[in-house]
Amino acid sequence: MAKSVIVAGGGIGGLSTALALRQKGFEVHILEQSDALNEVGAGIQLSPNAMHVLIKLGVSEALVAKAFFPQYATMRHFFSGHEYLRMPLGKRIEQKYNAPYLHIHRADLHAVLHQAARKQGVTITLEAQVKCYQHTQHGSVTKVQVELHDGRQFTCDMLIGADGIRSSVKKCMLPNSSLHFTGHVAWRGTIKSKNVPADLVKPDANLWIGPSAHLVSYYVRGAEEINIIAVQERKEWNDERWNVPGDVTELRRAFERWHPQVTELLSHLETCFLWGLFGSDPLDKWVDNNVALVGDACHPMLPFVAQGAAMAIEDAFCLAKWVSTDIDIHQGLALYQAERFGRVTKVQKMAKSNADLYHLNGLSAKIKLKALDVMNALSPSLASLPIAFIYAHNVTLD
Ligand SMILES: Cc1cc2nc3c(=O)[nH]c(=O)nc-3n(C[C@H](O)[C@H](O)[C@H](O)COP(=O)(O)OP(=O)(O)OC[C@H]3O[C@@H](n4cnc5c(N)ncnc54)[C@H](O)[C@@H]3O)c2cc1C
Repeated sequence: MAKSVIVAGGGIGGLSTALALRQKGFEVHILEQSDALNEVGAGIQLSPNAMHVLIKLGVSEALVAKAFFPQYATMRHFFSGHEYLRMPLGKRIEQKYNAPYLHIHRADLHAVLHQAARKQGVTITLEAQVKCYQHTQHGSVTKVQVELHDGRQFTCDMLIGADGIRSSVKKCMLPNSSLHFTGHVAWRGTIKSKNVPADLVKPDANLWIGPSAHLVSYYVRGAEEINIIAVQERKEWNDERWNVPGDVTELRRAFERWHPQVTELLSHLETCFLWGLFGSDPLDKWVDNNVALVGDACHPMLPFVAQGAAMAIEDAFCLAKWVSTDIDIHQGLALYQAERFGRVTKVQKMAKSNADLYHLNGLSAKIKLKALDVMNALSPSLASLPIAFIYAHNVTLD
């Protein structure tokens, strides 16, 4: 009989894990707290390392149909517009890594994963908020009993906590784990491209860096919409909620001294959301017998290398690979953590160190920018070397 899995959380990590496990023959049931499967109204960058998995999960064609393919990743000075980086994306990155780099609206990515999961026979229960779990013994077999906030209970052979940064599964596994405000907030919003002058936003991943802030813009939905993420340093986050409706006037004020291409773009933004960015120190435990964490539940990271969802997608494939071998579930999950820990910790650290670079903080930022300048002048591809270890990894080949 097929082994049963409960996945707590139907976000990008949960749906990818459900699909990967379903492909290996597990019976998969997603418990999602929301009353509808959805995502925030913003864009996401999917790099080749994530796309390798999405190709194997059989969803790449549907994603490509809704995506935008950026030509370059650029990094420019907030005031002068000086370009420190022009890393080729488009066809060149696809040829290099055998998978594309694309920009997509989160709701589109989520809908594609969700439809594929339903089609593959994954059961999804909405309004099901996981509270905690406990192990139960059935002869020589250890099972997991999952309890919801409304008192319902489910039993399964394996529980996956894909319930995001405030994971209840993590709280149950590691009651002393904590989160901290990283000192950054992010405004997110989208604009219809037809409302903006045609050449204002280049067909690239456009990063502008400046004192204590940075801004990223790129196209999604085949260039129909422009996604904007504006990050600013803040001392504290006083709201109990993790995101609140943003004030576009406040956002424009924060970037008013920036390059005219930035200020003009922001002048077209009508609504936005403001997010407090939270994090945790690397957790050394992601696995408790036949319970494991994936994605933001075990390795939240600053979005400054655009890899949080990509790492969750890689986790999904790796976990399904190990638990479908002949070894028992606990050993398989331990091997999953062993394979993933070093990589995600390295990416988490890179995201953190990019905060200083992007916000021109300190001498090390000046030195790195000088080095980028030299590499960019010599050969733009050289400047992509520090990030190559992320894009070159193909978890489906290991
Ligand atoms: C501004 C910003 C920009 C970003 N840009 C990128 C990018 O370009 N590329 C990239 O790869 N990553 C990016 N990220 C990171 C990425 O969004 C996250 O890493 C990713 O969404 C994590 O996915 P997840 O499935 O682990 O968690 P989540 O997306 O948080 O999903 C968790 C799911 O679990 C549900 N849930 C929560 N608690 C419970 C419970 N108790 N019971 C049942 N269900 C529950 C939630 O409702 C949700 O559906 C960005 C992040 C931010 C903030």
